[in-house]
Amino acid sequence: MVITREYKFGGKYDVVVCGGGPAGVAAAVSCAKRGKRTLLLEAGGCLGGFWTRGLLTWLIDTFDKGDFWDEVMERLEKNADGKKLPSISRFTADTEKTKLEFERMCKESGADILYHTFVSDAITDHRMLKAVLTESKSGHVYYEASIFIDSTGDGDLGYLCGAAYEIGNEDGKTQPMSLVAHVDGVKIDKTNYDSRYVRNKEAKGNILNDINGSGISPSYKSPLLAVLSEKYNTLGFMVNHEYGSGLDTKDITESTLSAREEIHKVAEGLKNYGGIWKDLRVTATADMIGVREGRRIKGLYRVSIDDVVAGKQFEDGICTVTFNTDIHSLRADNNSGFEEKYDKKHPPYQIPLRALISADIDNLLMAGRCISGDFVAHSSYRVAGPAFRTGEVAGAYAAYCVENNVLPNTLADLSSFL
Ligand SMILES: Cc1cc2nc3c(=O)[nH]c(=O)nc-3n(C[C@H](O)[C@H](O)[C@H](O)COP(=O)(O)OP(=O)(O)OC[C@H]3O[C@@H](n4cnc5c(N)ncnc54)[C@H](O)[C@@H]3O)c2cc1C
Repeated sequence: MVITREYKFGGKYDVVVCGGGPAGVAAAVSCAKRGKRTLLLEAGGCLGGFWTRGLLTWLIDTFDKGDFWDEVMERLEKNADGKKLPSISRFTADTEKTKLEFERMCKESGADILYHTFVSDAITDHRMLKAVLTESKSGHVYYEASIFIDSTGDGDLGYLCGAAYEIGNEDGKTQPMSLVAHVDGVKIDKTNYDSRYVRNKEAKGNILNDINGSGISPSYKSPLLAVLSEKYNTLGFMVNHEYGSGLDTKDITESTLSAREEIHKVAEGLKNYGGIWKDLRVTATADMIGVREGRRIKGLYRVSIDDVVAGKQFEDGICTVTFNTDIHSLRADNNSGFEEKYDKKHPPYQIPLRALISADIDNLLMAGRCISGDFVAHSSYRVAGPAFRTGEVAGAYAAYCVENNVLPNTLADLSSFL
């Protein structure tokens, strides 16, 4: 069977950013603020990706991520309780406020947003990407641009262009997926609750003991509660690991179905177990299962475990990463929840601009989870701060390339665009 279809022309932009997670928002805003005609394409119905659609618990690695990050923190300003965001490297932000502020930032910058628009294919000519094809309520529509940015997290755009990529470890194994939930009804009592179930080293073990005590063995052996609001007793809740492929719709669907069942089963078990759990209620499960690892698109430089261990600095270093390497168990039968040999601290290291520039497609940049790196390095830079910062830099560099009519691999001096 051969299926052919006509695509409508949607518009020509200076820069098209694919994926409206934190990396994509930062890229689109930083590009549009520099006066370039920018389009942000997002498959879901809000901005923020895993931060919002995925009900992310903590923003991790938040220090020293540039003025733009500081501006976002100022805009978020307060957590769900109305308390000032703390000056620590890991904290919760308000999910709804994040959605709203990301939308406001895009509108103020002049970037166009299109929701419910899935980037499904790409038209290339030799090493140049000419257009992205999309599917949506509007039908089949294509968009042209001078520079494209892949911020899909999973490297969908690089893959659709035929760019080289890696996934998983040397055996192709990837970290598991997790579906996050929000819960309430847990009485927060600082002397009892705080010391046993959150904010201390034994917390995860204590939660696991109670889940086991209810007769359930959760698929994630380091179950997590994160306080979102003390005032309203709302918490982030993560208890599952799913081992399907995050790049296969059938696996993603089955993993989502299974994870949602497990969340409710564990919550019901804990409720019956009693104690602080007796009024536990699941208020929301994410509409987007969290895919920790997608494709890592091959760049002009590949950040490696050696760079991480050595705390490598680069002349074109654009983001300092301080988060440890963090690999969730690659096998369902691992009882700790993590691959412990990788759970290591390291000196701060940098991501160079070259890791954001595709080695194969001359007008393609990457930002967020899908930049160029190896399996272990990715486990450290895949968190909030670096996602946002790499997005900001990709957007600024795309604007510079358009302005000066050059391709990203000309490798401009950082001071000329940052
Ligand atoms: C289970 C889990 C727990 C995590 N916990 C934390 C944590 O506690 N703290 C932390 O800092 N980080 C955490 N992370 C890491 C988190 O992924 C990053 O912080 C950050 O969200 C990565 O940003 P991103 O923009 O690269 O990708 P994403 O947030 O994944 O955003 C990608 C966006 O692209 C869109 N998209 C994808 N494909 C297409 C397409 N083909 N067409 C159009 N749009 C598309 C998606 O809808 C999404 O909005 C966690 C990740 C997972 C999976």
